[in-house]
Amino acid sequence: MAKKKEENRCSFCGTPENQVKLFYGDDAFICENCISTGQKLIEEQSKQREVESLAPIDIKKPIEIKTFLDQYVIGQDDAKRTLAVAVYNHFKRITYKKQDELNDVEIEKSNIIMVGATGTGKTLMARTIAKMLNVPFCIADATVLTEAGYVGEDVENILTRLLQAADYNVAAAERGIVFVDEIDKIARKSDNPSLTRDVSGEGVQQALLKLLEGAHVNVPPQGGRKHPDQKMISINTKNILFIAGGAFDGIEAKIASRLNTNTIGFRNPHTEDLDKENLIKYIAPQDLKSFGLIPEIVGRFPVVTSLNTLDKLALRRILVEPKDALVKQYTKLLEIDDIHLIFDDETLDFIVDKAIEFKLGARGLRSIMEAIMTDAMFELPSDKNIKKLHITADYAHKQLSGRVLKQLKSA
Ligand code: ADP
Repeated sequence: MAKKKEENRCSFCGTPENQVKLFYGDDAFICENCISTGQKLIEEQSKQREVESLAPIDIKKPIEIKTFLDQYVIGQDDAKRTLAVAVYNHFKRITYKKQDELNDVEIEKSNIIMVGATGTGKTLMARTIAKMLNVPFCIADATVLTEAGYVGEDVENILTRLLQAADYNVAAAERGIVFVDEIDKIARKSDNPSLTRDVSGEGVQQALLKLLEGAHVNVPPQGGRKHPDQKMISINTKNILFIAGGAFDGIEAKIASRLNTNTIGFRNPHTEDLDKENLIKYIAPQDLKSFGLIPEIVGRFPVVTSLNTLDKLALRRILVEPKDALVKQYTKLLEIDDIHLIFDDETLDFIVDKAIEFKLGARGLRSIMEAIMTDAMFELPSDKNIKKLHITADYAHKQLSGRVLKQLKSA
């Protein structure tokens, strides 16, 4: 500790000991101001080191991005194209900024909202993009978020998750991708701006806005609620790409009424030419507003796209075509035990029919497949004589009957 002598001065800035509250040293001295300057320098340098340690992002061209998505996501061509362009522009914006700070053209961020029924591939697409770019990625469920001070999760916890996905490398997190799931569930319930407090709707949207606006946000590194003694990590959200997804149940009615009453600027003014079965493809930002997203949030998601409900053919393709298709995964699992797995075409059709019947979409394919395969996967590895597993539609049907079927129906 310092020898508290009147004449002691800070060895760095010369401030006398009696002019500061904190003063350390024996022969050489340091005052509180120089300590905090040093602390800032350490933080800046460690941040600089983090930035330098980042591998450059390999920005792919939109066509390449779509080709990459095609390996994992079946169909959804419109959404893929829109997403590919938005992601390309976003990462161009980040690198372009770095190269040319002096240029005063500010390219706005291209956060994206994907509208489509559950299990159509929204999360899969966002996840696949993050995998391709090798940037940190996290999923946030909008339904559990609340305004600060209410029961639920603070919006800052979204960034905690991103930080964890980046192994606490702040610079890496600052160029990551956040997928905000079920954004439609925080729509305000009526079209009127709220007069009373709306904890689960508008209030959360306001809180979310803070993250979207490109601000420095203080994030609790371990998550949980903020409390005054906790050390916070500051994250700049300016270059974080936000992709939001939601089913927006019933939004077709809003689209329909807009198309009937206001066709200005719409490429097809003849409403009779509209694909009425598939109105979702005409989704526009004003529909999101009518649905209950506040204009500020809609403004922060300039790119809006939609995903189709997956039909029988698409579900059938999902079973076998993607790089990590379920059939490929189970084949691989059994191959490790030297068992050759064969699915009859009728079996795959049966699985698809059940997924449609239970209204589970692509999400259901896995649980149905699991129910069919569990018994065999339990017994076969212990039986050295069996080298082949042939799953017929009959076998699948039997496996799926009774208790399992009930479970799936209530899933
Ligand atoms: P959501 O639209 O609800 O976010 P997900 O992306 O989570 O749906 O889809 C759930 C699962 O269904 C995925 O993990 C994937 O296995 C499968 N899936 C959904 N849509 C597709 C698709 N278009 N192509 C391939 N697989 C899909």
